[in-house]
Amino acid sequence: MFAPLPASLSLFAYDGNFPHGPGWYLAFFRLGLVMAALFAWGTLCQWIDDDQRELEVAEGPLWNMIALGTGALGAFLLFAVPAFWFVWLLIIVALAVEAKMYANVRNLLVKDTGHHLLTPEHFKRLAKKYLKLDFSEEGGPRGRNIPIIFVGKRGGASNAETNKFLTKSEESAGYQSALELIWNALKMRVTDIHLEPTKDETLVRFRIDGIMKAQESMDRRVGDSVLNILKVVAELDITEKRKPQDGSFQARVLDPDRPKSGGRLVDFRVATSGSVAGEKMVLRILDQSKAISNLDDLGFRPKVRDQIRSIVGSPHGLFLVCGPTGAGKSTTLYASLHEIDRFTKNVITLENPVEYAIANTTQIEVNAKSGKTFAGELRSILRQDPDVIYIGEIRDKETAEIACQAAQTGHMVFSTIHSNDAVSALSRLIELGVDPSVVANSLSGILGQRLVRKLCPKCKEKYTPSPDALKRLNLPVDKIKFLCKAPGEGTKDSEQNACEYCGGSGYRGRNGVYELFVISDKIREMIESQSKPNNQQIQQEAIKEGMSLLFTEGLRQVISGDTSIAEITRVCK
Ligand SMILES: [Zn+2]
Repeated sequence: MFAPLPASLSLFAYDGNFPHGPGWYLAFFRLGLVMAALFAWGTLCQWIDDDQRELEVAEGPLWNMIALGTGALGAFLLFAVPAFWFVWLLIIVALAVEAKMYANVRNLLVKDTGHHLLTPEHFKRLAKKYLKLDFSEEGGPRGRNIPIIFVGKRGGASNAETNKFLTKSEESAGYQSALELIWNALKMRVTDIHLEPTKDETLVRFRIDGIMKAQESMDRRVGDSVLNILKVVAELDITEKRKPQDGSFQARVLDPDRPKSGGRLVDFRVATSGSVAGEKMVLRILDQSKAISNLDDLGFRPKVRDQIRSIVGSPHGLFLVCGPTGAGKSTTLYASLHEIDRFTKNVITLENPVEYAIANTTQIEVNAKSGKTFAGELRSILRQDPDVIYIGEIRDKETAEIACQAAQTGHMVFSTIHSNDAVSALSRLIELGVDPSVVANSLSGILGQRLVRKLCPKCKEKYTPSPDALKRLNLPVDKIKFLCKAPGEGTKDSEQNACEYCGGSGYRGRNGVYELFVISDKIREMIESQSKPNNQQIQQEAIKEGMSLLFTEGLRQVISGDTSIAEITRVCK
């Protein structure tokens, strides 16, 4: 009835004779090894199943089949092939190869290298965690000592999940590269960081003093994980890579010389959008330590500064600042708000978005997407008995009309408007549809402004301008002996400036250039009498009354050697 078991059934301590004599029927050691292989196989199947579901690996079911199949085949071979050790080792190797192959597939789906499994880095992390061994290079990974801590979303406690993710990814290459990127940007006085993916790389560009400058690009893999980390910090949806998103976060920058001081907080505004090559990101850096300035710090000529002070300090009126994007308009208005006694006056701001916090001020964020428009919010704050209202921007008829009405009914209103110069800002307001007489009676003054780069004090060069060039600029030929310019400016070797102080651009920092258009009674009459303002006539009258134009103001800085003709021509044209 019982046929002898085949000799190949190597799992048993079969001595070739059947039936056995007394003694052990089973080789317990071998059985233990088989159990271990069985356990490893079960664990692998379970892990692949869970992991592929979580990551939605496309070929997930196939991997499950492969994992299950390996076990079945292994079991068959154990019984069918007489060489136990060979088969057992084969099973273990097969399981290991399978685990590694699956890990490679799933690692491709996980952008953050800190979450990659079965990679050399992963083993180093495990060794560090469980064996307390540190295999990282001398001084740790790059950027280990960067004194920056991500604080998370601005103005609110970060949620626990974000914190958990950040703690988990602190060791990852992406996290360290993100810190390094921000640290370099802060050192170089950068205002905007641009990250743009191409096929293999992520291009990095910094805006410094208003000029974009290409930086060393990152490997695309690192670039993507930097982007991911920053999206998590700003609490954006990391799975959404196409639709534009925006958010903000704060980072604490510690002072390496004073480690106990707690450092300072820097705000970052994040905007992402999809492109053909992948997701782009722009980070705007809002350094609060540079935010608080008053009118004395903005480089006004004393006369202009005093005129602005008197406009800003009046009980009612409309003060507009105009210029292109990035001309420092909001900085001027923030400084103007600082002139106001915010303890005795009710100051309300409407901003899109709120850039800097101002003490003792109600700051309201306008967001058209959620239905909070300038005009709508403006109407509702007028019911809150404000003395001073700051409106981020006037760009539609409704806002313009309410702003003018508010200025006429005992409120001081500050705002910005998009136009090239002060006089054309006036016609812009009328073009928006506000009645000229309403404009005339509400407007107190318009400030046109630009930011020009200052020549680097360490490498600027003196030169003697030609009389023709001076004549063209209406400058006195006999009085000007020399002007200054950036090294190599206007020649081909402008790229070869090795000055470290300015990074080779020949410029460092910026100065404001201003033209202040004060609405006098005479000009008020002119506006009211014209159905459409005659800009030229009005400008001539304003110059007669003492206004000096942007370009003229810029030339003052050229003569004093603070900037170059090339720069004011670029900025004030
Ligand atoms: Zn320099």
